[in-house]
Amino acid sequence: MIVILKSDVKEGSPEYQDVIAFLQTRPGITTRVHKEVGALQTLIEIYLIGNTAGLDKMEIESLAGVERVVRVSEEYRIIGRHKDDSRPTGFDYNGVRFDQDNLNVFAGLCAVDTPEHVEAMMRTLKEFGQPCTRMGAYKPRTNPYAFQGHGAKCLPWVFELAGKYGIKVIAMEVTHDSHVDEIRQSLADTGQPTGVMLQIGTRNTQNFELLKIVGRQHEFPVLFKRGFGITLEESLNAAEYLASEGNRKIVFALRGMKTNLGDPHRNFVDFAHVPVIKRLTRMPVCIDPSHSVGSRERDPSGILDVMHVTAQGVIAGANMVLADFHPAPEKALVDGPQALLLRELPLFLEDVAIAREAYEKRRNLVKTFTSQHPPTQTAVGS
Ligand code: PEP
Ligand code: MN
Repeated sequence: MIVILKSDVKEGSPEYQDVIAFLQTRPGITTRVHKEVGALQTLIEIYLIGNTAGLDKMEIESLAGVERVVRVSEEYRIIGRHKDDSRPTGFDYNGVRFDQDNLNVFAGLCAVDTPEHVEAMMRTLKEFGQPCTRMGAYKPRTNPYAFQGHGAKCLPWVFELAGKYGIKVIAMEVTHDSHVDEIRQSLADTGQPTGVMLQIGTRNTQNFELLKIVGRQHEFPVLFKRGFGITLEESLNAAEYLASEGNRKIVFALRGMKTNLGDPHRNFVDFAHVPVIKRLTRMPVCIDPSHSVGSRERDPSGILDVMHVTAQGVIAGANMVLADFHPAPEKALVDGPQALLLRELPLFLEDVAIAREAYEKRRNLVKTFTSQHPPTQTAVGS
């Protein structure tokens, strides 16, 4: 059960104390207070853990400081979308909005290699009005002898270049808790020229100790990738680890499932799950077409498979697209074969815009339909 306090109720105020005192008298219930810090106000939510079945929702709602009470099902207590749960989705970070209604594109390098390539990428992003990118400094590699990423030493110049080209958010994978400290330190040393969204890769989806560390810090939002060989339920439970530790600024990413049944694609594209995640949770949903498809193959009309699946995810309501680009894919140290070219960025963005417009039209169409045919009045078969 979640007790949501009125927006003007501050921690420690008499109304707050009254609610806490009331809840503390209930046997077998413990409370965990979560503060949702927004641009204009801080919302306080109190999570009740234990046997909440005997609690009277209306009685709690009658307390002066309480806005409303939401009963949560056992699954995904914090990230989940529960019955009568009208809490907003999403968050703001460094001037960029992430929620279930909008769309952000993160085109960029799979792995940081040279300053020239990073600068060329960022210059092109600025030219086409893109404030977000992806840049890997720490790369989880199958082969121990493969390039592992430049690590902390590239961070200062990557962040400075991001500042130079107006990049607000860089999605950057971390594979160890020390990476979070290195990113924080480097941003501080360079004067906070940009922001970072910490990426949890598919190989670390169930690295619970890493999730706890990343969940305990509230500074950076998290791009959480679905595990490539586990059920959706297991991946969502893993995302709940982040939230249960206090960080709710989470975007959930689909990146394809590992199975030969998806051949010749690198992974089996799972973007049909975009609406499923939105229904089950309040997290914005990202799609990663590059790691799903893994090549630059195209259909007879000339459209790349990567662009086809991007459009499929966006027309289904995806809120973020993570896509590999590279100025010289043949020189890329990681995942060159799936990278799009810089000159393809405007084509990609235009294609995404077409799919997004189609999604918005579909959303409006069903809204009109539902207003004319409210679900409760619809007869069977009509
Ligand atoms: C990546 O985005 O660079 C990456 C390694 O992705 P994934 O964890 O989905 O394989
Ligand atoms: Mn990659």
